Amino acid sequence: MGVYLGFILCRNKSLVVCIFIMLVLGCLIALIPITPMFDDCLDKKLSGLNERKIKEKAYQKEYDEGKHKLAVLVPFRDRFDELLEFVPHMHKFLKKQNVNHHIFVLNQIDSYRFNRAALINVGFREVCPQCDYIAMHDVDLLPLNPQLSYGYPEKGPFHVASPQLHPRCNYSTFAGGILLIKREDFQKVNGMSNKYWGWGLEDDEFYIRLKEAKLQISRPLNVTTEKTNTFRHMQHDSVRRKRDKTRCFNQIQLTDDRVLETGLNTVSYNLTEIREMSIDGDRATVLNVKLHCDKLLTPWCECNSSNQSAH
Ligand code: UDP
Ligand code: MN
Repeated sequence: MGVYLGFILCRNKSLVVCIFIMLVLGCLIALIPITPMFDDCLDKKLSGLNERKIKEKAYQKEYDEGKHKLAVLVPFRDRFDELLEFVPHMHKFLKKQNVNHHIFVLNQIDSYRFNRAALINVGFREVCPQCDYIAMHDVDLLPLNPQLSYGYPEKGPFHVASPQLHPRCNYSTFAGGILLIKREDFQKVNGMSNKYWGWGLEDDEFYIRLKEAKLQISRPLNVTTEKTNTFRHMQHDSVRRKRDKTRCFNQIQLTDDRVLETGLNTVSYNLTEIREMSIDGDRATVLNVKLHCDKLLTPWCECNSSNQSAH
């Protein structure tokens, strides 16, 4: 049709002008019905497929380029009061040290027992293409002394919550609470074991991984505070924030039967949602994580009264 209109308009003009008008009209008419259809389809496709890409961009925006990037990975379930204090406290603490950071809350939403280590593996996989070191960080342990450095652990894993300073844990191989590790080192040990459902021991197993990989763990030196005033560890009691120390099936032998192939490369999960939250302007990203449990491998991801063992 464009060609025909152009021909009528231009039959008395020069050939060059005529061809030009025919081309412009032809193009305009051809584009009118197609453009909106094309955009609609594309929008629908992109909204699903590229959601993750968009989020990756959002993480990147949080970091300043040209500086080390810390992802604070917080394993989490049902600790809202602690989170309300954690996020503002950590932003203030890290900003004072000029640490380029972002906080990620790994919210376990399945119905299995809590699995701190698997959540850290998930967090690393999801956000650490954009970071170059992580803090594995309990939500209820707040650093109080500004001498505790959260800088890039160039020389190897840095255990901030050292047994000399942690309010409760004394043993020399303790590696829990708060630990900084660079991306390469976490990958080198294949992350943490996914087999620790329920409370405890996953950090002890991680300590062995680091030792076996000959990674030197260092801890804060020349800190002028002590066990009572270096950290604030929020209260647990026998009802509220009770530790899940139940042992069932053969869970008790777990640390003896260490299987190194479980870790970063085998953690199985669905990431169901990524939400941005803000507590009085202090931001964190919440990842809703549905962990999967292979009940042949780790039947103790669910314990009930019939399969419990003494502990
Ligand atoms: N955690 C959680 N929900 C739970 C259990 C544990 O969010 O039901 C997370 C939280 O970050 C907590 C960390 O796992 O700080 C370690 O657990 P917990 O504080 O019970 O262990 P503790 O080190 O005090 O013995
Ligand atoms: Mn605790």
